[in-house]
Amino acid sequence: MDFRLAATDGRARAGVLRTPHGELLTPLFAPVGTQATVKAVTPEQLESLGATLLLANTYHLYLRPGDETIARLGGLHQFMGWPRPLLTDSGGYQVFSLADRRQIDADGVTFRSHLDGSSHRLTPERAVAIQENLGADIIMALDECPPPSDRATVETAVARTHAWAERCLKAQRRPDQALFGIVQGGVFADLRQQSASFLAGLDFPGLAIGGLSVGESKEEMYSVLDLLQEHLPADRPRYLMGVGTLEDFVEAVVRGVDLMDCVLPTRMARNHAALTPLGRLNVRKAAYAEDGRPIDADCACYTCQTFSRAYLRHLAGAGEMLAATLLSIHNLAAMMTMARDLRLAILDGRTQAFVAGFRGSFLKHRPLEV
Ligand SMILES: [Zn+2]
Repeated sequence: MDFRLAATDGRARAGVLRTPHGELLTPLFAPVGTQATVKAVTPEQLESLGATLLLANTYHLYLRPGDETIARLGGLHQFMGWPRPLLTDSGGYQVFSLADRRQIDADGVTFRSHLDGSSHRLTPERAVAIQENLGADIIMALDECPPPSDRATVETAVARTHAWAERCLKAQRRPDQALFGIVQGGVFADLRQQSASFLAGLDFPGLAIGGLSVGESKEEMYSVLDLLQEHLPADRPRYLMGVGTLEDFVEAVVRGVDLMDCVLPTRMARNHAALTPLGRLNVRKAAYAEDGRPIDADCACYTCQTFSRAYLRHLAGAGEMLAATLLSIHNLAAMMTMARDLRLAILDGRTQAFVAGFRGSFLKHRPLEV
């Protein structure tokens, strides 16, 4: 993997990340395909939306159908029909979310499957081996993601995350996958700084920011990002995990983040909410019953070019599957368009004006549409 910056504007960065399955232009939003599918959207549709990187979840694929099965079937790209770049997480985040079904120790974590209650063990070495079987272009070190505001728990998690990061690097066998380390530290400036400096000293080709958007306030999240950009190496990609509303995407990119992923755009689509640069629009509202306008007149996506709010409201009300597909297409298009517009603004040196315009219209309209 090779990363180079094409331009910087303030703290915002436009780069090119080269992977074995193609080039990624940053800033970039990666749709999430938890079970090796972005729910309700085909790979062909994703490609026509301009999606370049997809994320799949190791925890789910390890349990079902199994990483070894996927390896025997030619790897994850082949299995899910996505020839472009893929990223897998370590499985840690989902395992730690199991609360009463898991037990952490210094060596790893033992957990019971949410599917059948069977017992499993995840260690740094296992997390790497499973991801090597899956075969994504970017893979993640096993980390511990604690509640962000309990200092003692966060300190323990940072120490464990660092020890596990070193073990993941030692365990890696495949040279064609880029293994990223994950910065933890909750909302504590000194712990974040310590974590970033420690991981920057290891041989990771990219670094991720974990443990955000997990219950802290927006101000706390933005101040962690403000602080981190000084401590993360400028020549390596920075990946903010699990954050991806339109407004958070913009605020993270102006704070020096290159990659983001989030289930929100597609999850909101299945709940009949559309993302627009003016705020969220719930297509089920009675006001749209005879509204012949598209969700967003400025959006070039298939949904907005073809269908009215009234039709989408009808589909949603009738419980039709197509509602989820069309709204997912629109919401992902909104994220892709924002990423592309930000990249152009960074390349042209007009990021500040672009972001000021977005903030102004978003904040002005948002209360009307929610
Ligand atoms: Zn659209």
